[in-house]
This record gives sequence, structure tokens and C-alpha cells, in this order.
Amino acid sequence: MIEQRIADVVARHTRDIADFPSPGVVFKDLTPLFADPAAFGQVLDLLAERHDGVDVVAGVEARGFIIGAPLAQRMGVGFVPIRKKGKLPGDVVSASYDLEYGSATIEVQTDAVTPGANVLVVDDVLATGGTAVAACELIEKVGGRVACLDVLVELAFLPGRERLDRWELHTGLVVN
Ligand code: 5GP
Repeated sequence: MIEQRIADVVARHTRDIADFPSPGVVFKDLTPLFADPAAFGQVLDLLAERHDGVDVVAGVEARGFIIGAPLAQRMGVGFVPIRKKGKLPGDVVSASYDLEYGSATIEVQTDAVTPGANVLVVDDVLATGGTAVAACELIEKVGGRVACLDVLVELAFLPGRERLDRWELHTGLVVN
């Protein structure tokens, strides 16, 4: 099954960094995955295989860009960056949310997707779900339809999944 195969590769190429970015937090570091072309390519192939009917891939700054842009290329669709406040030129819409540590605002360009487009939203890690909810809401605000949200790692001891019950959610490695 695709979910399990993604989980296996991600698990083998993820490391825990204690006390980052603040004391008591165990950070899931995916840089070993991104550094391994075979493993990363396999994950991208599996992601591309499990989503069809997608018109555009949107990725959340910054690690959602690392996954989303090559994935969009593999799927033969365009890529839309969802960026931190103040980084995108032109007309944008914004959403603010609480993070596991701190708070943030993200933005997307108002003309980022054609009305009714099926958008696959990607990011590396689902923690409290604040980022993912804001990203999906932004896509809807600019007229897109969130076909699915896909993250490589789900921190299941946090309430991310519950907050995303309006959208289809796929995850790879589930950390309990
Ligand atoms: P949330 O908004 O769900 O609390 O946090 C998710 C966002 O913070 C994602 O954009 C993700 O990149 C980042 N994040 C939170 N915790 C971790 C973690 O343990 N590892 C990584 N790589 N990113 C994290």
C-alpha cells in the first residue's frame, strides 16, 4: 500500500533533533530524506501515484516548497507557493494562525489558481494543524478546491488531524 511505502522510506530518512527549536520539542528533521536522491525520488513517485485529477500543487514555505515543486513537475501540473507574510508580490490574501511554537501569517497570491481548480496542498510535517488549516483556507479564499492535503510526517499526539476534518488528509509516517 502506498501509505505504508511512503511511511517506510520517510521513517528510514528522518531523524529526531532534541530541544529544537526550543527546549522540550523533539524536531523531526527530514533533511536526510531530501539529501538522498533515490529515497526522495521514491517518495515523490509514490505521492504522484496516489493523487490524480489534481490541477495544481501548493506548498507551504519552506519545506513544502522542497516537496511540492518537484512533485508538481512529476505530476505535470503547476506549483503555487504559500509564503510567509510580506514575501509575495502583488495582490495577496493572508491567514494568521498559532504554531506549536509562536504564531505566523502566511499568504498566497489572489490569482494563484483558476477558479474551481483541484489543489493538492503539501507540507513536510503536520503538528498542531494551524499551518495546514491556514493553507487550505487560503486556497479556498482564492477560489481553489482543496482536493487533498498530504504531509510526510504526522505528529499524532497533537490535534492536527481533528482540525482538518473538512479536507481529505493523507499522511506518511505517523508518530504517536
Ligand atoms: P503546525 O502548524 O501543524 O503546528 O506546524 C506545522 C508546520 O511547522 C509545518 O510547516 C512544519 O514544517 C513545521 N513543523 C512543526 N513541527 C515540526 C517538526 O517536528 N519537524 C519539521 N520538519 N517541521 C515541523
